Amino acid sequence: MKAAILYETNTPLKVEDVTLDDPQQNEILVKIVASGVCHSDLHFMKGDMPQPVPFVPGHEGAGIVEKVGPGVTTVQPGDHVLLNIAFSCGKCPRCNEGRPTLCVENLPIQMMATLPGGGTRLHKGDQTLYHLFGLACFAESVVVHERSAIKIREDAPLDVVCVLGCGVSTGIGAAINTADVRPGESIAIFGCGGVGLSAIMGAKLAGAGKIIAIDTVDSKLNKAKELGADYMVNASKDEPQGKVAEITGGGADYAIECIGNVNVMVQALGAVRTGGTCVVAGMAPLADTLSIAPFHFLLGKTITWSTQGDVVPIHLQKMCI
Ligand SMILES: [Zn+2]
Ligand SMILES: [Zn+2]
Repeated sequence: MKAAILYETNTPLKVEDVTLDDPQQNEILVKIVASGVCHSDLHFMKGDMPQPVPFVPGHEGAGIVEKVGPGVTTVQPGDHVLLNIAFSCGKCPRCNEGRPTLCVENLPIQMMATLPGGGTRLHKGDQTLYHLFGLACFAESVVVHERSAIKIREDAPLDVVCVLGCGVSTGIGAAINTADVRPGESIAIFGCGGVGLSAIMGAKLAGAGKIIAIDTVDSKLNKAKELGADYMVNASKDEPQGKVAEITGGGADYAIECIGNVNVMVQALGAVRTGGTCVVAGMAPLADTLSIAPFHFLLGKTITWSTQGDVVPIHLQKMCI
């Protein structure tokens, strides 16, 4: 089968024939029908985040189960599945407290690009290929742990729902789960790419009062308006903190940073009111440092991070309508 391989950071992907092993204990083989393209793929490909090479990117996949390994109980051949970045063991303290995106077994898998059972199932001749996020969806098929896959209804269009595996769940979850925006409250969304537009939809679903979209590209702001934003601020023309303060009468109840840019994170924290909350949903390069004035804490503000929107992966089933 073919897969897109990154041999060295900052070089083009190469589409080549590779070997995919049979699924091992609790693993499944999924024929990929569609995969989203997320900015985090680019972070890893540029070396902004450490990752063993060569690896196969792609972490928003959807497809059909073709084979199951020993011990698999959650899916069977023929099932349609959504692949999810947040493998969760279901047994650790974080999983038990209902925050599976913080599973203690997940981070090493994400950093080492291996499968939860250890090692990889992808090879090019004698060369080992690594699976980004334990997935590797830029390929015709993948072998993943069954807990990286969520069975979904068969009439859900796979080319649409695949982005629930990362970007859409991250954005919607950042608004609904992490910020926990309530009806009537105001929220400023910094960055209107896939995650930001999803955060706007999440805020709309939650009944937010004033939804303020901020970006530097007018076409993205137009899309933000179409999806539920009440106010659009072009940060290349207007200073966003001042505009948010003007619209909300002193600062938004919540701000969500959806880019992964530390300067924008500072702006987002500055845009929330006294006692407000800033949620960082964008992934910044690992070496970046966030510099914020402690005075914000004197004003009772909170800044926090949202890991894949704090979703419970199995709940993504219900979003596949
Ligand atoms: Zn992603
Ligand atoms: Zn766990």
